[in-house]
Amino acid sequence: MIDYHLHTNRCCHAVGTPAEYLVTAEKYGLQEIGFADHFPLGLLDYTPRVQVTMLSGELDVYLEEIEKLKAASRKVRVKTGIEIDYLPGTEEKLDKLLAEYNFDYVIGSIHFLDGWDFTHPVYADTYRERDLDALYDTYFELVWSACRSGFFDIIGHIDMIKKFGYRPRGSIDHYLQETARVLAETKTSFELNTAGRDAPVGEFYPDRRLLEEALALGVTITTGSDAHGPEQVGRYFLEAEKLLREVGYRELASFTKRSKNLIPF
Ligand SMILES: [Zn+2]
Ligand SMILES: [Zn+2]
Repeated sequence: MIDYHLHTNRCCHAVGTPAEYLVTAEKYGLQEIGFADHFPLGLLDYTPRVQVTMLSGELDVYLEEIEKLKAASRKVRVKTGIEIDYLPGTEEKLDKLLAEYNFDYVIGSIHFLDGWDFTHPVYADTYRERDLDALYDTYFELVWSACRSGFFDIIGHIDMIKKFGYRPRGSIDHYLQETARVLAETKTSFELNTAGRDAPVGEFYPDRRLLEEALALGVTITTGSDAHGPEQVGRYFLEAEKLLREVGYRELASFTKRSKNLIPF
């Protein structure tokens, strides 16, 4: 299996060095891992209320550290990824920045809605003040824009808006169907992210129905634990593998210098 969503101690809210994450990956016999720490929001001139990403000066050091690990790792292939917030209005800056760096893959994620970090437990009470139907509309519109932006190889935790268990009154089927359609149309991959199992919602991202819809449309998938500590590498991966097999997936997307290769699992 592949774990493409690993954070490190550089992002201010995770613990452990890349080398420590690799130790767990070796222990579980993972084939491939990728670090996808939070891209410095400062480089996009965005200041969140709580520091949740690497600081601007740390990106080069992060990349050097992963490159060293990549060269030294014998049992597990190591990839250099990054998780970048999709923030409308920052496209021009992001375009320039991406041209300067040599990532294996870029995960595009949405953690902010009009400045609200809706993934952060400190601000979870805000859900109570929101119209959940309108909130889901806004969230999924952003997901679709992120796909269409063309910046991202993989969309991260694609239905993260369910993290604290707040759901709209009606069916969410149309969000899932349109998400699968846009992923297919834009040839963007997504991930089965197992971290949601440890969140209040208690389930993986995304909903199984989206896995099914996406497979039917030929969308490719990666797997990620969203580990914020070395002990979380590969969390719930036996269950994830079983789920993907049940749905009908037989291959995972692997990336080298932003080019995709499918590997059987
Ligand atoms: Zn994080
Ligand atoms: Zn994330």
